[in-house]
Amino acid sequence: MTKADGYHEPEVLKQYIWKFHRDLWTEDERLAEQAILYEAMFAPRSPNSNPDPRLVRERRKYANNAFVWQMIEQGYEYLKAYSRDRILRESPSELYIHRCPACHRVLASPEAQQCLWCGEDWH
Ligand SMILES: [Zn+2]
Repeated sequence: MTKADGYHEPEVLKQYIWKFHRDLWTEDERLAEQAILYEAMFAPRSPNSNPDPRLVRERRKYANNAFVWQMIEQGYEYLKAYSRDRILRESPSELYIHRCPACHRVLASPEAQQCLWCGEDWH
């Protein structure tokens, strides 16, 4: 599916949904996103050093949440792909994907009036 110009629909959809449809993310997905960012910011420098108190405090929110720990393990891009797939499966009707009228590719934003892929312009 990847064309010479770099368009790869699953990747483009992943970023689009992450940027513009955070409203469809679950509480757990939001928590996992926050956790991934905190873990990255405050992770202990070495396995033997004490974790930053801010991280300790934050971890109370997801200490027993297996989903969040799984996402921390897999990483941010995995979480975005996970939520994309879940939203496409569970609530496709709530999803507004703005596509180019000419090439039908996913546009840069819901308000875009120009296609960055084929150059179509409908200002
Ligand atoms: Zn286009």
